[in-house]
Formats: sequence, structure tokens, C-alpha cells
Amino acid sequence: MDFAFTDSQREFRAELREFARAEVTPQLFADMERSGSEYHPEFHARLAARGWIGLQWPAEFGGRELSNLHATIFYEEMEYAFAPISRYRTSVVFVGQSVLAFGSERQKRFFLPRIARGELTGVWMLTEPGAGSDAAAIRLRAEEQGEEWVLDGEKIFTSGAQDADYGMVAARSDPAAPGKTAGISLFLVPLASPGLDIRPIRTIGGWSVNQEFFDGVRVPSWLLLGEKHRGWQAITRYTLNFERAGIARTGTLLRLGDELARLLAGGTSASSRSLRQRLAELRAEIVAARWLGYRVAWLYDQGQVPAAESSMIKVLTAELLERLAELGADILGWAGMVRGREAPLAGRVEFYLRSIWFHLVGGGTPDIQRSIIAQTGLGLPREPAPTSK
Ligand SMILES: Cc1cc2nc3c(=O)[nH]c(=O)nc-3n(C[C@H](O)[C@H](O)[C@H](O)COP(=O)(O)OP(=O)(O)OC[C@H]3O[C@@H](n4cnc5c(N)ncnc54)[C@H](O)[C@@H]3O)c2cc1C
Repeated sequence: MDFAFTDSQREFRAELREFARAEVTPQLFADMERSGSEYHPEFHARLAARGWIGLQWPAEFGGRELSNLHATIFYEEMEYAFAPISRYRTSVVFVGQSVLAFGSERQKRFFLPRIARGELTGVWMLTEPGAGSDAAAIRLRAEEQGEEWVLDGEKIFTSGAQDADYGMVAARSDPAAPGKTAGISLFLVPLASPGLDIRPIRTIGGWSVNQEFFDGVRVPSWLLLGEKHRGWQAITRYTLNFERAGIARTGTLLRLGDELARLLAGGTSASSRSLRQRLAELRAEIVAARWLGYRVAWLYDQGQVPAAESSMIKVLTAELLERLAELGADILGWAGMVRGREAPLAGRVEFYLRSIWFHLVGGGTPDIQRSIIAQTGLGLPREPAPTSK
């Protein structure tokens, strides 16, 4: 067991910090506020110019053959700077990693270099109005017609579909297959396709998710991703684990924790002592989460796709963010509820309290993550779904 970073990883972190100091500017945040989007195309292009998009992919597909631990360091440093990387994540972690894991040679050659150059962005379209936690209850229909598939149905809560190029869509391709997890296929669908209507849903968190209506959307056969009718196996073995491991926000936790520590510095009252105790306790858990994140990256570097650990890091970091934001509100009092960049901590306490559902629910709710940990980490039997009675 070796807990040290390599020279390459240390140098990479220093390079990222220097980049963040120069490029994550107040102007960047002002631009995003004006556009109402968490995606900043010019910033995305700057990441691509550095060769950081898909840095863990093989060179033949536009990557730099760095480790998943390098990728974790990238996320940590960009999050620490509050840099806008959500479309980076949907493109690389959800779509790109899936194409790399189970796409065809043609798909790898088409999608991965374009994502790496920042020319193509992707989003993940799994959830439907009747298929959230029960994700296999997919009804969006895909029918094979000659050299094409025709898609009809709905998706909902897609992060980023309003400005992305491709959606990775889970569809029911064989409705006669026995059991809801059978007969599902994945498709890489151009979001500008005729018959596809994308409608934004503004969330309380301040940015949009989307609902999509597919009305006879025609997708060429080569855009079927993975094995026909066996999409669920690929989703549960790869995509959902990539997603859960890839949305852990350890860098945000470290930064927010540091900012709260600065607020508390020098306080000596009884109440500040109890707030310090809470922050210290959170710090211990954040450091533990950080090491779990490194372990998850290491497991991916060994060619494993860990289900229990991917769920652990997802639920742990989301709930830590909630507790940190609550502590921030207790430290700042009413001032913590002020919105906007002029507010204390640039309004981040208010922002994270308001947008915490994105972190808790996106990628599967805490209940679902705990069920996965119970089943795959502890070997417990599958629980029946709760009923409303
Ligand atoms: C901001 C945001 C962004 C999102 N982005 C995307 C995206 O990019 N792509 C995408 O495909 N989806 C996305 N989602 C959808 C997200 O994955 C689902 O919302 C989530 O899986 C929960 O589904 P649901 O909203 O239908 O809630 P439900 O499944 O209806 O759950 C309601 C409640 O019941 C509980 N529950 C349900 N079933 C069980 C069970 N079996 N055991 C225990 N408890 C249970 C849940 O934990 C929850 O508390 C996003 C959601 C949000 C809020």
C-alpha cells in the first residue's frame, strides 16, 4: 500500500492550481449569471486546449493516457476553484466513459476525439416521468426499421440537454422481452434530430434540467451503443457506477470547509466553540471521503468498476455537502440566506442549501445508494420497493 502521489500527479495538481488562479475569474461567474447556464463554452474550450478533457483515455482516442487518479485530482482542483465543469462531467464521465467501455470501434473513433477536443458535448438521458428510482421501468420505445431506429416517448430531468450535442438515451427496444430489465438498448442521439423537442425545466437550484419529447426520432443503426436489447446490463455494470463515482464533489467540500474555517477563525465564544467542533467533525469525514475517492479512482485504474464504493462516495459527499451548508447557515445566521455574489461567501451557503437536491437526488437518491451498498457491499438481499400504503 502506498499513499504517496507520483511526481506526475503532484506536478499536475500544481499546473491545475495555476490554471485555476488565472482562468477562474469573477468575469467567468458573471458570464454564467448572465447566460443562466452553468456551461461556459469558452472555459470548456480552454480545458480542451490543455488536453484535460478525457485525459484518462487512450491517445488513439484523443486522451493523454493519464490515470483515473489524475482525473480525480482534476475534479478536486476545479471544484476547489468552483470552476464550471458540469458539461465536462456529463460529456466525459457519463457519455465518453460509456463509449470507451462498451462502444463500437467506429463510435470510439467518432465520439471520443471530438469530446476531447471540446467540439462535442453529451448528456445522459435515463430518467422518465415514470422511471426515476425505478429506472428500468423505461417506456420510451425504440423500433428497428431497416438501417434506422425510430424513437417515441419521453425523458425528464436531463441535466444539460439544452446546450449539448448528443444524448445517451436508454430505450425499450424489445417490449416482448420478459422482465423490465430485459429488452432495453442505448442510443447516441443527436439532440438536433427532427422530432425531438427539448423543453427546459427551471429548478430551484438556479439552472435548468430538461424534459424531452421524442416523436418519431430517426437514429441511424450505427448509433446503437452496446449490445442490442442488453442495455440494462451495460447501464448497471458501467454507466451508473461511472456517474456515481464521477459526481462526488470532494473539492467543493474541501473549499467550503476552508471558507467556514476562515469565518470561525478567532472566535472564542461558547457558540463558536460548538460550531468549531461541528466543523472539525465534518473535516474528519471530508478527509475520509477524499481518501475513499482516491481508492475508487485506484480501483478504476486496476480495471475494476466498483458498485458499492461508487455508491458510497456519491452518497457520502452529497450528504456532507448538505451538512456543511447547514453549518454555514448556522455560522452566518441570516446573512447566510442572502443570495448573490455580493453576499458573505459569495452567496454559496444559500446556493448549496437551495441546490442540495441536485447533489442528493442526481445519480440516484440516498435511499437507492444505501440499497446498493447493502446489496453489493454487504451481501444483503434486495429490499422490496416501499409502498405508499
Ligand atoms: C437536479 C437533477 C438533475 C438530474 N439529472 C439527470 C440526468 O442528467 N439524467 C437523468 O437520466 N436523470 C437525471 N436526474 C433524475 C434523477 O436521477 C432522479 O430524479 C432520481 O433517480 C430519483 O427519481 P425520481 O425523481 O423519480 O424520484 P422517485 O423515484 O419517485 O423517488 C421518490 C422518493 O422515494 C424513494 N424511493 C423510491 N424507490 C425506492 C426504493 N426502491 N427504496 C427506497 N426508497 C425509494 C426515493 O429515495 C425518494 O426519496 C436528475 C434529477 C435532478 C433532481
